[in-house]
Amino acid sequence: MVKLIFLGPPGAGKGTQASRIADFYQVPHISTGDILRNNVAQKSPLGLQAKEYMDKGELVPDQLILDMVEERLKQNDAQNGWILDGFPRNVTQADFVEKLLSASKNGNDTREEKAEIINSLMVINLQVPDKVLVSRLLSRGRQDDNEETITNRLKVYHQQTEPLIEFYKERQQLVTIDGNNSVDAVTNYLKQAIR
Ligand code: ADP
Repeated sequence: MVKLIFLGPPGAGKGTQASRIADFYQVPHISTGDILRNNVAQKSPLGLQAKEYMDKGELVPDQLILDMVEERLKQNDAQNGWILDGFPRNVTQADFVEKLLSASKNGNDTREEKAEIINSLMVINLQVPDKVLVSRLLSRGRQDDNEETITNRLKVYHQQTEPLIEFYKERQQLVTIDGNNSVDAVTNYLKQAIR
């Protein structure tokens, strides 16, 4: 069962690669950024709350994100694996994933079974230097891809998301991939790395 998390700064290519790998393994590509942008477009209550944070390049509050992800992972297509893109983005969110993974269906999994479930998770750290990220994002031109927001998103990444690299290293779930390569080359590295 494929359970993958794409970790990496904005502009690292998480979305592009996660979508390719999801097609390859026939599992849903779950991007919290995409779900949020859909909600913003539909002016749903979640979208209306999330928009102000997204426009500033801040993280949307955890409780909104955790409920949203929990709902998404309950859906039928997510029962045989998934690829998470843009989530978790801080330690609270990473703890939540761990809790979800270890929560057993019938409540009586053995310790070994629980450990195995947690071990089935693999975290991909897509590494790209900040200088390259800024120029990639500026050429992409999404609504939140202006210089001020980009600077803040990178700051938020370094402060809140980067600590997850150590978090997943300690758990031996981390694989680091050099994202500063062509799209096809990165996809190939990923396919080799995913067990
Ligand atoms: P990028 O990785 O290029 O910043 P995303 O589409 O992943 O783009 O995220 C866009 C914005 O959506 C973020 O700046 C943030 O405001 C919000 N967001 C997405 N995922 C999360 C998350 N897991 N927790 C909090 N906010 C999030």
